[in-house]
Amino acid sequence: MGYGVKRERRPGEVICTCGAYGFPHRWLGGRCDGSALAEATFEAFRGCKDCWFYDKQHHLCDVVEGREAATRCPAVEERMLYEGAKR
Ligand SMILES: [Zn+2]
Repeated sequence: MGYGVKRERRPGEVICTCGAYGFPHRWLGGRCDGSALAEATFEAFRGCKDCWFYDKQHHLCDVVEGREAATRCPAVEERMLYEGAKR
């Protein structure tokens, strides 16, 4: 990317800074599975009350626990739709 050149962001191209890579990467690209967003959402809401992946009794999220794919998390799905991002 050249100095001062603003590259047009392509639809579906979301930059992610989660721990999957040590540098900013394309969201849902390669090792990035979107679970960071699921985890952040779970923490922000202190459990996702109405989500079917939320285990109220044990205060666990199936996505955060790795039992479900992060792309099935409603928060991740919603962002994928909003951004037009693909796995
Ligand atoms: Zn990521």
